Amino acid sequence: MGEGTVLDTSALISWPLSELSGSMIVSSQVSELEKHSPTRADIIESLGLIISEPSIESLATISELAMETGDMTGISQTDLSLVALAHCRGATLVTDDYRMQNLAEILGMEWRGAIMDGISETWRWELKCIGCGTVYGSPESPSRNKRVLKECKNCGSVLKLRKK
Ligand SMILES: [Zn+2]
Repeated sequence: MGEGTVLDTSALISWPLSELSGSMIVSSQVSELEKHSPTRADIIESLGLIISEPSIESLATISELAMETGDMTGISQTDLSLVALAHCRGATLVTDDYRMQNLAEILGMEWRGAIMDGISETWRWELKCIGCGTVYGSPESPSRNKRVLKECKNCGSVLKLRKK
């Protein structure tokens, strides 16, 4: 069993204020919170949240795994950092994001959903062109925009994630 909890942004926004104290977040979530819930962002320091960052080793481990599973496609830098933070602190990861849950489950980490139950199996993704069927490798870094997948270099069709 690990110690402490690491909260993703959905938990940070939706959980009662009284339950946030003592949980860990990463600094990039503070600016996300300012966008989605400015009143919460204003009082973040008084809530007793611990703002931390993952070790470089942990971030490298999680990045490598995310490339291998295909979860790197569509994950944000913040989400990657949160999984890495929970990993290096031995903390429980609280998230409703399936990609983050998938990575945590494969690594045998403690995790729970913020509002929903979460995944019951792990998976590997591949990025495949819906036109010519070319399979692309996972990107080496998180995407800026979660929703935009690249176009096929061969035929210009849309790429879709499929379970391997
Ligand atoms: Zn194609």
